[in-house]
Amino acid sequence: MTQLVDQFGRKIKYLRLSVTDRCDFRCIYCMDETMRFLPRQQLLTVEEIVRLARIFIELGVEKIRLTGGEPLVRRGIQEIVSGIGALPGLKDFAMTTNGSGLLAHAVVLKERGLRRLNISLDSLQADRFASITRTGKLDTVLAGIRAARDAGFENIKLNTEVMNGRNTDEIVSLVDFARTEGIDISFIEEMPMGELTSHGRDKTFYSSSKVRSIISDQYSLIPTTETTLGPSHYFRMADSTTRVGFISPFSPGFCTACNRVRLTADGRLLLCLGNEDSLDLRSLLRANPDNPDRIRAAITQAVGRKPERHHFDGGVQVLRFMNMTGG
Ligand code: SAM
Ligand code: SF4
Repeated sequence: MTQLVDQFGRKIKYLRLSVTDRCDFRCIYCMDETMRFLPRQQLLTVEEIVRLARIFIELGVEKIRLTGGEPLVRRGIQEIVSGIGALPGLKDFAMTTNGSGLLAHAVVLKERGLRRLNISLDSLQADRFASITRTGKLDTVLAGIRAARDAGFENIKLNTEVMNGRNTDEIVSLVDFARTEGIDISFIEEMPMGELTSHGRDKTFYSSSKVRSIISDQYSLIPTTETTLGPSHYFRMADSTTRVGFISPFSPGFCTACNRVRLTADGRLLLCLGNEDSLDLRSLLRANPDNPDRIRAAITQAVGRKPERHHFDGGVQVLRFMNMTGG
């Protein structure tokens, strides 16, 4: 039973755990071309990550998603996956990845207890993929997606960041690709996380309702209440097992149902994607190596003050980039 309830009665059951802020890509909506990353000694160790995961599960967290930065570039990622995968009480264990390391890692991740994967894919055109990710290669990611499919994960979902004028003409092709591969796909609205020098977010923002209308011209989307405990709002299609989801932080109700908190790679517990308030769990953990009760109490108290909602729509710009937040 969850013991993490915020001041608005929302039960926190989902932890997004960032294992690194580093990445082998430099996606234009996520970070600038030149980024400074955290010194390695500031990161939580593998052992600290697993200890904190255990404490969150004891507090009623049912789902953990490893993210980053790119989780597959983190040294010790396989040990993190086996450590968390073996914890009793966890109902769902997932990872969000850019897919570049899946050809090498997919089978081992599955063997060590990871159940579900979200793989980011914003374009099926090699040159466009390269320009959006700045350093990524489409072929490598497609090979990674197929390796993941062959490894037999419970579920694989593509995540597509929709950007006005960059990839809106590929919305239906991406749905078709997901249908052919027999996997799900979610379309994400861009959030103003970190100030970019490459483009103004107001120029690239493209709403989920517009994406939905483009897909509906081709396929009838059947509303469903199915959930994976995450922020995606899903639709089914009559002639395919593929579900189409929308992650719409600018739609009403997005925050009302929030059941999530985030742990950054340096151990800050972020209570909301769009607010800066955090708890320094790394310091607490290091100061109280034999006192999990102290950590549990601090987490419970921090969750109590989780803000009601993000304020992106009020023009508030969060300075943290998404790779530092744990997207
Ligand atoms: N590197 C992994 C990946 O790309 O899947 C995991 C981390 S990435 C930060 C997680 C997700 O955040 C990706 O699906 C990415 O598209 C999304 N993302 C990054 N920056 C974003 C932004 N400013 N607004 C909305 N989504 C963003
Ligand atoms: Fe890296 Fe993921 Fe950010 Fe792209 S979205 S730069 S893959 S962390």
